[in-house]
Amino acid sequence: MKKTQKYITFFPVFSVFKPVGIPLKDLEAVTLTLDEFEAIRLADFLGYYQEKAAEMMGVSRQTFGRILDSAHKKIAEAIVFGKCLKIEEGENIMPTVRIFLCEDCKKTLNIPFDIPKPMICPECGSPYIHRFDRWRGRGKGKCRRNRWGQK
Ligand SMILES: [Zn+2]
Repeated sequence: MKKTQKYITFFPVFSVFKPVGIPLKDLEAVTLTLDEFEAIRLADFLGYYQEKAAEMMGVSRQTFGRILDSAHKKIAEAIVFGKCLKIEEGENIMPTVRIFLCEDCKKTLNIPFDIPKPMICPECGSPYIHRFDRWRGRGKGKCRRNRWGQK
């Protein structure tokens, strides 16, 4: 089978979700793959039609449908049974955006790597903007193994 290089354009900022009050080690986990995360983001969050979302992920419409179904089942399982929901640790995934958080209005800003960090928040004008994702200090333009890959 041909392995296609998929391009995931957004990156989960949080990788573990769990019910409050139960230690992680005592919880059963379900793990969403990055493909499943991306399918949810494109179809459910951004509201793209499946044809368009499939095209953006470089997979067929059928494959996209399967990925999305699988993602929905896993999320449902986590919610219904109170399981911990994890997002797969990826390797060689190149995020195209950096995420900054405005401390004043709490708005998050997704800034592509080739655009400099804004000096002020475009929403409220606050200068207190901080990097919010886990890609701090990463070189630009290189597809390096990410930190999640290291156990
Ligand atoms: Zn702001």
